[in-house]
Amino acid sequence: MANPAKRVSDNVPGDYFVDSTCIDCDTCRQIAPSTFAEGYGHAFVHRQPQSAADRRTALHALVSCPTGSIGTIGADDPRSVMADFPLPIEGNVFYCGFNSQKSFGGNSWFVQHPQGNWLIDSPKFLPQLVRKFESLGGIARIFLTHRDDVADAAKYAERFGAQRIIHRNEASSQPGAEVILEGNEPQELAPGFVAIPTPGHTLGHCVLLVQDRYLFTGDHLHFDRDGKKLEAYRDYCWHSWPKQTASMRRLLDCRFEWVLPGHGQSVHLPEDEMHRQLAELTERMSA
Ligand code: SF4
Repeated sequence: MANPAKRVSDNVPGDYFVDSTCIDCDTCRQIAPSTFAEGYGHAFVHRQPQSAADRRTALHALVSCPTGSIGTIGADDPRSVMADFPLPIEGNVFYCGFNSQKSFGGNSWFVQHPQGNWLIDSPKFLPQLVRKFESLGGIARIFLTHRDDVADAAKYAERFGAQRIIHRNEASSQPGAEVILEGNEPQELAPGFVAIPTPGHTLGHCVLLVQDRYLFTGDHLHFDRDGKKLEAYRDYCWHSWPKQTASMRRLLDCRFEWVLPGHGQSVHLPEDEMHRQLAELTERMSA
C-alpha cells in the first residue's frame, strides 16, 4: 500500500496520491487519465476524482498499479472494485488489470470464446482474478507476445491446465511452454486467432490478431495519447529497429480496428483510419 509520507510533491491536495515508489509504467494514466498525469519520472494526481464514477475508475488504477504506489486516505475501499476485473473492453474482450511488476506493469487481456478462453500476456496471479476467470469459463490458452511480459503465466497455466504459446526465440523465458511457434510466417492457432511474428522489439516477438478486429500488440505497437497517432517505442527496441520496421510494414496486410498493447495506450479506430495511421508510422520508422 502506498505511503502518505512518501507522496510525490506534484500531487494536488486530497485523498488520492502517488508515492515515490512509482516506476512510471503509465498504467494509471491509461485507466484514469482524468485523475493521473505524467510528472518527471513518475505519475501524480493532477485532479482529485469528483464523481462516484471517477472514484471507481481511480480505484481501478489503484489496484492495477504494479508497485502499490497509489493510495487514498479517504473512505474509498480498493476491495470494493476487485470483482470488477477483468474489465470489459468490447464484446468478448476484457482488460485483466492487476498489472505485474515482473512485466514492468505490462497490460494483459482476456478473450472469452466458446472453444476455450484466451489470456494474452499475464497479470499478477491473484485469488480474486482466478475466481473471476473460473466464473467466465477458465483459461484454455495463454498467448505470450514476448519474453518481457510473461509475469505469472506459468501459475495460470498450472491452475487452469492452459497451453502457453510462445515463439521459439522467446521460449527460454517460459520453460515448459506447451506450444512453441517456429519461423516467421503467420499461423492460425484456432479459427479467427492468428499469431503473426513481429521481430524487432525482441527477436521472437509475436502479435495476435483476433477475428480481424483486435490486434494484441505486446511491445510492438501502441497509441500515442498526446500525439494521437500509432507509435512504436524506439528507445525500448531491444533487438532491431529495421526488423521492427519491416514487421510493422507486414501488418499493413491485416485488417483490425483495435490495438491492445502490453505497454502503452490502447485505441479503437475505424479500419481505414487504423490502416492510414499504420502506413504513416511505417514511413516514419523507415525514415
Ligand atoms: S500505475 Fe503505479 S507505477 Fe505505474 S505510473 Fe501509475 S503510480 Fe506509477
